[in-house]
Amino acid sequence: TVFEHYQLSPEILRALDHLHYKAPTEVQQKVIPYLMNKSDLIVQAQTGSGKTASFAIPLCENVEWVENKPQALVLTPTRELAQQVAEDFTNIGRYKRIKATTIYGKSSFVKQKQALKQKSHVVIGTPGRVLDHLEKETFPVEKINYLIIDEADEMLKMGFIDQVSSIIEKLPTERVTSIFSATMPDEIVALADQYMNHPTKVKV
Ligand code: AMP
Repeated sequence: TVFEHYQLSPEILRALDHLHYKAPTEVQQKVIPYLMNKSDLIVQAQTGSGKTASFAIPLCENVEWVENKPQALVLTPTRELAQQVAEDFTNIGRYKRIKATTIYGKSSFVKQKQALKQKSHVVIGTPGRVLDHLEKETFPVEKINYLIIDEADEMLKMGFIDQVSSIIEKLPTERVTSIFSATMPDEIVALADQYMNHPTKVKV
């Protein structure tokens, strides 16, 4: 399988070529077609499998460049992962000029608030700070139609799962939701049952 096999625009294919991604990894082969078709997914995959690009490629493809308000939200357990995921979106979305904004704790709330007023296609953040922006209404969510919960088992271990639920409750219900997790503890399965729409299960 090659990336040309998917319905990707020349801008995205060019970025993948620039990154020297020659062929989709196993998780990418399993995830990209479903996310392109807007299905909910539960993905059991390890770090290093190429999981970030498995959601960043279809999201970069599917967001509308002209829309100024964020269309996708990615929740990560740590700041470091948020930064890494944002870098992947920026790289994959380079020729489509995709703007990714990060919001996480121990960093200026005011600067993040300003960034959220600018054009942004994708917001990547940690649960506590994302919830903080939602409660203060500094993060407009009415155009969010994709939610990715990355490293869900780590969020659970770090005690963020109630915050994740509170965030989901504030998002539009017409959306695609995907959970990525290395393991599938009961609490994550329960979260999926509560907030997802007949998710397809993928394991690599
Ligand atoms: P991840 O599992 O998302 O942390 O990705 C692991 C590493 O694989 C990252 O350095 C990516 O840049 C790289 N990568 C992702 N997809 C591909 C691909 N299709 N071909 C080559 N490298 C890739």
